[in-house]
Amino acid sequence: MALTGLDIYKQLPKTNCGECGVPTCLAFAMKLAAGGASLDACPHVTEEAKNALSAASAPPMRGVTIGTGDFAVKVGEELVLFRHEKTFFNAPGFALLVDDMMDEGEAVAKVEALKATKWERVGQALKANLVAVKNTSGDAAKFAGLVTKVQAATDMPLILMADSAESMEKALEVAGASKPLIYAATEGNADAFAELAKKHSAPLAVKAGSLDALGELTTKLDAAGVKDLVLDPGTRTLKETFENLVYLRRAALKKKLRPYGYPTITIPAEETDDDMMEAIHAAVYVMKYGGLIIMRDLSPEKAYPLFVLRQNIYTDPQRPMQVEQGFYPINSPDENSPVMVTTNFSLTYFIVSSEVEGSKQPAWLGVVDVEGLSVLTAWAAGKFVPERIAAFVKKSGIEEKVKHREVVIPGYVAQLSGELEDELGDWKVTVGPREASDISTFLKSYQTVNA
Ligand code: SF4
Repeated sequence: MALTGLDIYKQLPKTNCGECGVPTCLAFAMKLAAGGASLDACPHVTEEAKNALSAASAPPMRGVTIGTGDFAVKVGEELVLFRHEKTFFNAPGFALLVDDMMDEGEAVAKVEALKATKWERVGQALKANLVAVKNTSGDAAKFAGLVTKVQAATDMPLILMADSAESMEKALEVAGASKPLIYAATEGNADAFAELAKKHSAPLAVKAGSLDALGELTTKLDAAGVKDLVLDPGTRTLKETFENLVYLRRAALKKKLRPYGYPTITIPAEETDDDMMEAIHAAVYVMKYGGLIIMRDLSPEKAYPLFVLRQNIYTDPQRPMQVEQGFYPINSPDENSPVMVTTNFSLTYFIVSSEVEGSKQPAWLGVVDVEGLSVLTAWAAGKFVPERIAAFVKKSGIEEKVKHREVVIPGYVAQLSGELEDELGDWKVTVGPREASDISTFLKSYQTVNA
């Protein structure tokens, strides 16, 4: 049974030193009991207390890492049911499915195409994360052969999918060192797959025909020493999988049921033959509550909207995405190039910077820290104001980079120009366009006027 805040408090040092980030030991105990903190945050807790509190200090949903190095994918460790309660932490990993009944060249070409399916959006990379290799043939040597080829083609972590321990063992001889996800332990093969997971220190997916059976299997595997588990509820319709994902998340977070306290894996590729429906299933699982999503097709027209959806769901709703304050050189500006300012809301910055870039005109784009608000919102909130803009320009070092003293402000805050000139002293303030789409035309004529 889960410990209460008072149970936990009894084990803490009770010095109220605040080093854990909350002012008192009691407050820390309450936070720990609610799953909102880790016991590691208290540097003074004794080993004896750590052992006594291990159940309470474990996160309600375990974090599981697949792969190694820069390409490793971490899933799980979520703390809330709804994004607006706090945030979601570890975005679901998208995996492309290839199987050993495909021509090897075709499978490798799919993986190569996947590597090129990537974009940058508001400063973040949008891309797939894993490759799932399936032993459809039942032939262990063939499976291991494809795993070898795929592993040579990509650094992305692998999900190895096989029913037989023999096939899995052969594949792990090839790929075990890169910590792939072993898919999947079932009632029939759990002992053998558990041994393979322990031998290679690799995470293990668990699949069962019902949630009760799933809980029994995870309990058994945990007792056998396999801690990094991923849950497949075993259903293959959108409705049933969705219901089970919601049940599992609630059971882990609200009921603190340890057998269900793991991230999930979903396989839209096995739920429908229709490519469009596959994308729809995946979109549902991005929102609730897929940890890994295996797709038969991740061609760009399907991947982009799914990756953007994932990005939007997995950003912190309480913290606007921000760009660091400073001047950014675009198109190799020099001492005669225009100086522009805008706010540090990511979307604003990336829209403005791409318009400047597209104009092919060199410019210095200054980004003022207004806590991630857009231009008009920051102005209305009293954050994009002459005093702050002037202080930024003066301290930024731009005066050493340009010979002129002229700054362009967004057209939406034209009313700031007079006061900003007073604040800046020797600078002239020019009002730029209201819409980013007019920046290119503006810069071309601006360069002409100032040449
Ligand atoms: S760091 Fe530990 S001892 Fe200090 S207030 Fe937090 S829980 Fe108490």
